[in-house]
Amino acid sequence: MTDKTTILDCYTDEPAGLGVPPFVGVWPRYVAGQYEREPTYLTIDDLRWLRYREHVPGATIDPPVGRTHIEALNHTRDPDEIRRVLLEADPLVVIAGVQTPGKYLSARPGTLREVSKLLSSMALRRVLTGPVLTGGTQVRGGLRPQLPQPGDYDALQPFVFDSYEQLQPYALRGAGLIGQMPHMPNRIVEIETGRGCPREEGCSFCTEPLKHAVQWRRAEYIAEEVRTLMELGAQAFRLGKQSCIYSYESGDPAKIEALLSSLAALNPAVLHLDNANPAMVDERRTELFVKYLTPGSTAAMGVESFDPEVARANNLNCTFETAFEAIRTVNRIGGVRGENGCHVLLPGVNVLLGLAGETPDTLDRNLAALKRLLDEGLLIRRINIRQVVPFPGTALYERAGQKYLRMNRRYYPAWIDKVRREIDVPMLERLFPIGTVLRDLCSEVHNGATTFMRQIGSYPILVAVPERLALQERYDVRVTGILPRSLTAEWIR
Ligand code: SF4
Repeated sequence: MTDKTTILDCYTDEPAGLGVPPFVGVWPRYVAGQYEREPTYLTIDDLRWLRYREHVPGATIDPPVGRTHIEALNHTRDPDEIRRVLLEADPLVVIAGVQTPGKYLSARPGTLREVSKLLSSMALRRVLTGPVLTGGTQVRGGLRPQLPQPGDYDALQPFVFDSYEQLQPYALRGAGLIGQMPHMPNRIVEIETGRGCPREEGCSFCTEPLKHAVQWRRAEYIAEEVRTLMELGAQAFRLGKQSCIYSYESGDPAKIEALLSSLAALNPAVLHLDNANPAMVDERRTELFVKYLTPGSTAAMGVESFDPEVARANNLNCTFETAFEAIRTVNRIGGVRGENGCHVLLPGVNVLLGLAGETPDTLDRNLAALKRLLDEGLLIRRINIRQVVPFPGTALYERAGQKYLRMNRRYYPAWIDKVRREIDVPMLERLFPIGTVLRDLCSEVHNGATTFMRQIGSYPILVAVPERLALQERYDVRVTGILPRSLTAEWIR
């Protein structure tokens, strides 16, 4: 017996917070927690799976030849059951909002147009919520955001709360929803430690300051939610739902330690972090993260541009030298290899293309800076390059829109290719020399005779093993080769 209130998770990806599988976002859990009885949980994959099976009755998610169908991999039930749930759903609460679009190995977020199309023949009371209500959604970088069209939804229902005291009962009650999610416990649960951006005026492109004023969540609340999730079967967690984990409680080391020690005491299999503002990175706080987190964690630094002109024009959060100093600090303290084969804590660098003031010289400056990181012998876990999406309400949208994307877009493919060849490959050779043993990878998808797998963590390296192994199982591997953004490896039997 399922409840009529039904959540349709189209997945979310925000500057602060990720909810695309294998990440379990906060949105479906919090939304579920508002209801006395647990809602039924569907994903966009369920709608696609239903449609697909109607057209190709014998279709399978993971055909023996070819690719795993990632667009339906995270379905929650069989087609008959999906149909029955949809017939009874009242209301259908659609959660959507991709605002920092990326590439996803084993899931594909749903777009508003897709949802409308897939539901077009169904008479349903529809409610829309999620990050989409602040600025829209766009699953591809460099394009305009999609906004809800009049008539597509019966209600647009923002999920708001004034304080973390108010949120806590929702967070705890909603935790139960993970019981309906596929592929548990091979999922990593996103945990919220705070909201809003601590900077007085945010970066030009970011939707985070539009959503909330700054608030930090008390360590007791965070630990209580993690404990509840662990009792329900979750084993891996990422402190990812905040703009900067180094800024937790204004960066107070005693409060950061109280939080981390209370979580580490619960002994989760994985405890990682995500966003770090380079301006807040120092030795004391880095030592605390290294002491309490499990290995393989990445402090993703939103440097966005190493061009001082662009940094100024977009009010970016750090200068060139601050970024380098933060990267050096994290390397010095976190750059030791842990028992799973990865370094304990390394920086990640985000680069954003299409910001105001960008010129072809900006690309040269960014490449020169990345080369300098390499020449200094520093380790960078990953370089994330995105094309900006100018969301309504942001300074970038008001002042520049797509102007710089249009001007410079033609230079991007060759430049990205250069970074991948000239920076990523030597960096990966340094991070994962041939012969490195990596432990406890989860097999996520197939492509032909190759199995793609990753460790469960904040930004795990993609590993291709040249044999077809069962999915959603754990493997240890030995590195045999380096590709631009991934490794090849053999399974250690
Ligand atoms: S520092 Fe910039 S990118 Fe980070 S949350 Fe604030 S405004 Fe957004």
